[in-house]
This record gives sequence, structure tokens and C-alpha cells, in this order.
Amino acid sequence: MRTPQVEPAQGLPARVTIYEVGPRDGLQNETSVVATDVKVEFVRRLAAAGLPIIETTSFVPATWVPQLGDATQVLAALGAEGVGRNRPVLVPNERGLDRALESGVQAIAIFGSATETFARRNLNRSVDESVAMFAPVVERAREAGLWVRGYVSMCFGDPWEGDVPVPQVVDVAVRLMDLGCDQLSLGDTIGTGTTGHVHTLLEALGRQEIRPDRIGVHFHDTYGQALANTLAALADGVSVVDAAAGGLGGCPYAGSATGNLATEDLVWALHGAGVETGVDLDALVETSAWMAGQLGRPSPSRVVTALAAR
Ligand code: MG
Repeated sequence: MRTPQVEPAQGLPARVTIYEVGPRDGLQNETSVVATDVKVEFVRRLAAAGLPIIETTSFVPATWVPQLGDATQVLAALGAEGVGRNRPVLVPNERGLDRALESGVQAIAIFGSATETFARRNLNRSVDESVAMFAPVVERAREAGLWVRGYVSMCFGDPWEGDVPVPQVVDVAVRLMDLGCDQLSLGDTIGTGTTGHVHTLLEALGRQEIRPDRIGVHFHDTYGQALANTLAALADGVSVVDAAAGGLGGCPYAGSATGNLATEDLVWALHGAGVETGVDLDALVETSAWMAGQLGRPSPSRVVTALAAR
């Protein structure tokens, strides 16, 4: 398969850790519900392709997210491959944490919102109430020795509120980190952010002692900005990037439903710039082509489209 010509770029880290969200964020936002054994094979194939961190599933109630209602079964089928510090799961509350712990999970992610409207729509709570809900989850997770990530949604724009003031994002970020999160993931949930905005937010977080080594970035490609924004964050010292194999997952709150940054598009850009990821692009493209077949529609990833057609 074709690979990019490698010409090292200045100002990027030597190595980037890709945080693969396809099995969770990707499949959660697909309209089709994928069978448990397909999810299990998906995680196995992603691991075999060298993805270092894979968010495997979600312990959100099946009534909220029917696509991932089989979390316990997925982890049982994966066995040792499905748990560990590099296999986080999404957890909304203490009940979700209990279920995750019963499955032997060793890393979790909670999900806050930078805006009141999205907090109410996604969590049925105000921002204050949701932080209060997460507090005992993080506390108990840390007591159990788990690694904890805190997502912040709507960092760069909100479909109901429009612009989101940077200080408002910083406030929620600080509150999640103060609960005891190990890492923060900044989500551009509707994909409206641009590069200067990324820099401004990272700088503002730095002033509150939240440095790039504690931050992951999570961009959506709705407006074609995901890769540009990612490279801007890397130039500012971030080295953890969220992406979904094949660009899986739209966003139910963004009408055009363009999803996550495709892992293949990210890998192509990084490898071409001389940045190591540990990912085998051929194996990843084969995996995404296979998953597109399972979903019955082509991958929106440009790199998958280009390489799979060869
Ligand atoms: Mg996403």
C-alpha cells in the first residue's frame, strides 16, 4: 500500500500517542447497532494494528445509548485484551463505575460539558450538578487505582449557545482536573474550532497549571478543520490525539453528522511529518474497510478511500 514520503516537520513532537475512540465514540454515534462479536473483533484488530490506547465501550445505561448496551459482554469476550490502563471505558456515574469495576476495568473516562445546554441535554443536569455527580466517581476510581480521563465537550462552540467563551471552558476544565483526573480531553464536539482558537485555549489552560502533557485533543471534521487543529495543538506541546478508525461516528447534535477525525488521516499526516505513532497504516485501513462493510456504508476517511481503492 502507498505510504507518505517522509519529510520531517519542525516543531512537532517525535512521537504522538493516538487515543483510539472508534469502538466507543465512533460506534455510539452510528445509527446501526453493531453485533457484539463484531465489536470484539474490531477492538482486537485495532490492537493488532498498533493502536496504543483504545477506548473500548461505555457503561452508560443502554436506555441512553443502545448502541453500546453490551459493554459487559464485549469486555467478557475480550478477556485480558479488553482491560488495562490502556483500555479505558466511559462511565457516567457511580452505577456505571460499579459495572466497570465488575468487568475488571482499570481506566475510565468521565464526560463533562463546557456549556449548560449540552450538560442538560447530554446528562440531564446543570454543569454544577454534573461535576457533583462525577466527584464520587473519580474519588472511588482513584481509590481503586484506576487511571481517569475527563472529557470536556463543546470547548470550541455549542449548537444551541453559539460561541463558548474560553474562560468558561477553562473553568470546567479546572473543576474536572481538581476532582483528580489524570488527563483532560478537549472536545470540539461540533467541529467549528479553528487553529488560533486552539492556541488561545491551550494558553489559557497553561495559565491555570493545566499543561499540554495532561491534555488530549478531540477534534471533529464537520468543517474540515480536525487535522489542522490537531497539528496546531501538537505544535503547542500536546502529544495525545483522539481519533476514530475510518472516521466513525457522526455527532447527533451537529446536523451534517460528520464525525471524529479519522485515525488514518491522522496517521498519514504524522508519518509523513516524521512523527512516530506505532500504528501499522495498512492493517488499520483494512480494519476500517472491513468495518465499513459491517456498517453497510463507505468510510468518510479520505485516506481509507484513497488507499482502499488502490
Ligand atoms: Mg468525538
